[in-house]
Amino acid sequence: MENKLVPIITVPEAATVTEIRDEIDEVKTFFFTFDRPEIEEAFRIRSGQFIMGTVFGAGEFAVSLPFSPESDRKHISVRRVGKVTAALHELQPGDKIGIRGPFGNGFPFEEIKGKNMVYVAGGIGLIPLRSSIVHVLQHRQEFGRVILVYGARSSKDLMYKESIRDWKATSGFETYFTIDRPEPGWNGEVGFVNQLVARIDLPVENTVAFVCGPPVMFNSVIKELKIKGIKEQNIYSTLERHMKCGIGKCQHCAIGRTLVCVDGPVYTYKQIKTLGEQI
Ligand SMILES: Cc1cc2nc3c(=O)[nH]c(=O)nc-3n(C[C@H](O)[C@H](O)[C@H](O)COP(=O)(O)OP(=O)(O)OC[C@H]3O[C@@H](n4cnc5c(N)ncnc54)[C@H](O)[C@@H]3O)c2cc1C
Repeated sequence: MENKLVPIITVPEAATVTEIRDEIDEVKTFFFTFDRPEIEEAFRIRSGQFIMGTVFGAGEFAVSLPFSPESDRKHISVRRVGKVTAALHELQPGDKIGIRGPFGNGFPFEEIKGKNMVYVAGGIGLIPLRSSIVHVLQHRQEFGRVILVYGARSSKDLMYKESIRDWKATSGFETYFTIDRPEPGWNGEVGFVNQLVARIDLPVENTVAFVCGPPVMFNSVIKELKIKGIKEQNIYSTLERHMKCGIGKCQHCAIGRTLVCVDGPVYTYKQIKTLGEQI
């Protein structure tokens, strides 16, 4: 889907935080609306893109867009890791933030329509995949099998539990969950997500896979997907690198000749390999 609005490039647009949810430990979801109605109305994204968020007086941070291009409320989900994200976590509903974007390439839905979609997420790796999952479920008939394989350290670390409950109501949405260690009251799988990927029956032909999570999870999942026969050019992920401008000027996010902010953050595994970097 085209951005109807020219992205907000350099000057952050004011938005109001309307609701804050405790998602998992150290991760909160912030719902927001733009203060100017014309921006609120015209702001359009592609799944896989990101924005630069401003916490006034603290700084800017890059953040994925977990809402769908169509009909979700605008929100971001952020882990507290340092100065700016800690300041964000102190905000209350009614407080202001700034937004620039959307930036980056997004997932190539034009090319992958009609295919089986396999999403594999670890921990907060579900954040950058969420928009794509919602989009695909909203256009369910245009895709083949739609499968989510999701692993976290414990049941408390599974993101978007409410959304997942809603998604499971969509016919033909296959879900597999696992946590690292057994836990009272948990009846699902136990073990690492790559082990679950190895066990389940995944389609291989006419299939694209989306993988996001911490490096050790990413590498072990890629290995399993390749053993199953899914080709490197059909495996997508999003890269996170330190970013400043978001528009390809400052080179902060350069990896070799690619700038993650404009050429990415979505890359195929085949491309990631040529960057010569661990994810
Ligand atoms: C395209 C993109 C999408 C992102 N999406 C999300 C998201 O949806 N949710 C979320 O919680 N975070 C996301 N991040 C990461 C987020 O931008 C950083 O955590 C944030 O900028 C940290 O700012 P800070 O001032 O709080 O921490 P800092 O004080 O700047 O850093 C704290 C620690 O985190 C490390 N760090 C900071 N930024 C990065 C980075 N980009 N890559 C690797 N290590 C880093 C630092 O080296 C340091 O160890 C995304 C990053 C990118 C580039």
